[in-house]
Amino acid sequence: MLLACPDVPLPKEDAVARCVAELDRRLGPSKVDTREATRLSCASDESDAAGRTPAAVVHAERTEDVALALEIAERHDVPVTPRAGGTGRTGGAVPAAGGVVLSTATLSRVLEISRGDLLCVVEPGVVTADLHEAVEREGLFYPPDPNSLKTCMIGGNVAENAGGPRAFKYGVTGAYVLGLEACLMGGRVLSTGRRTVKGVTGYDVTSLLVGSEGTLAVFTKATLRLVRKPPEIATVLGLYHDVAACAEAVQRIIGGGLVPRCLELMDGRTLEALRAQGAAVDPRAGAMLLAEIDGDGPLDDHLARLGEALELGGRALDVVAAQDASQRARLWEARRQLSPATRKLAKHKLSEDIVVPRTKLVELLAEVDRIGAETGVAYLTYGHAGDGNLHVNFLWNDDAERESVDRAIGLLMRATVALGGTLSGEHGIGIAKAEYLPLEQSSELIALQQDLKRVFDPRGLLNPGKIFPAGGHRSC
Ligand SMILES: Cc1cc2nc3c(=O)[nH]c(=O)nc-3n(C[C@H](O)[C@H](O)[C@H](O)COP(=O)(O)OP(=O)(O)OC[C@H]3O[C@@H](n4cnc5c(N)ncnc54)[C@H](O)[C@@H]3O)c2cc1C
Repeated sequence: MLLACPDVPLPKEDAVARCVAELDRRLGPSKVDTREATRLSCASDESDAAGRTPAAVVHAERTEDVALALEIAERHDVPVTPRAGGTGRTGGAVPAAGGVVLSTATLSRVLEISRGDLLCVVEPGVVTADLHEAVEREGLFYPPDPNSLKTCMIGGNVAENAGGPRAFKYGVTGAYVLGLEACLMGGRVLSTGRRTVKGVTGYDVTSLLVGSEGTLAVFTKATLRLVRKPPEIATVLGLYHDVAACAEAVQRIIGGGLVPRCLELMDGRTLEALRAQGAAVDPRAGAMLLAEIDGDGPLDDHLARLGEALELGGRALDVVAAQDASQRARLWEARRQLSPATRKLAKHKLSEDIVVPRTKLVELLAEVDRIGAETGVAYLTYGHAGDGNLHVNFLWNDDAERESVDRAIGLLMRATVALGGTLSGEHGIGIAKAEYLPLEQSSELIALQQDLKRVFDPRGLLNPGKIFPAGGHRSC
């Protein structure tokens, strides 16, 4: 593992044993899994963050199971780590203190889809792609589409406030969460939010829980806003000599008042990874922009304006439109495979998830080049350029390079904040970025959030070691 397990207080072994025995007795052995293979499979996620193997994995099947598990664990002073699909990129579902993993993956029913109220009510274990299919069968649309959509789940999406390519036009998960059913450490069950599109009753606790990375409560239901499915979609590729031209095209599209639903940038090294996978990418291209528009009526006018912006006054190498749905699907399949494809380029890879104001994209990419040159670390960049959200990936083979990689990440974080940006657009802070939080947030703001955490979870048992490491933040 590339990222060390945070230093957190560990539960007493006999307390854990008593806790697991009571969970087993009261929930039933079918829901409490102590097999080594299961425990090991829940000790990591897709982040390279090291954790401690849990003593048991609870497979909750109902809200009551979640509440009971949290009641029992608190009484025994045992930490609990909520888990959904395990695709997180910052170690959110990694048990830093061992204890018990509480999986909501089997709470996986779509409870309601309402065409009249334009909403659905789902359990947290529903796989995001399955929800897309279910609502689209009804002519409706749930826009958030993390690229991991075939394996991640709504519980994890809400906890990370997940984004995805379509966030440029439609916004991130939080824009669709109307209400939540959530269980607190100790077993209390809360219902937050509403089924209406408007509502300003009391504090907006739903928004506080969205993006809370499994540290405040465990969700057992989500009421999600839906929109009508747009009937028309068109996908266009812009090919460029270099990434600076590609970023300029993004700024031209946005500056020209166009609102595509996706604007995905890929730099030259990313294209090399795609070619290595067998994708037929024009050998001249040193960067590519994947743009997609949608709407209710004919898109010809928008498509023409988009094409013109992508042309960059004749500086684009080529601008090509996908001819049909299957060609579009192939393009997206290639885009969604970028993370595993680029992982094959070196022995180690750490991926960042920074965001800058869109007008700063060109500057950010120049900063990334500067950092690469200064530290000598190999890197590649792709991501949701329309949102200013780029995945900068650092790659290395030799362990001796690690110090330079850490320096490169620190420099990238500082440069991002200096450009008015933020450390994470969609993956959250988790274990991976905790030490950088003070670069962006004041000590007062961090302390206020820690106070809030204590209100929800006074003993600090729910997902310890995330966002706010027990040892305090290392000064950056
Ligand atoms: C190939 C790949 C592509 C990706 N692309 C994107 C992308 O485009 N956009 C994006 O935003 N992310 C992306 N991700 C990251 C990841 O898929 C998202 O963060 C996703 O939302 C995590 O969902 P999950 O179900 O896997 O959650 P997990 O990894 O299981 O958990 C994530 C967090 O949610 C908490 N949690 C889980 N279930 C609950 C619950 N029921 N109640 C409370 N807290 C809970 C966990 O404790 C943890 O902190 C990608 C990941 C991979 C591997």
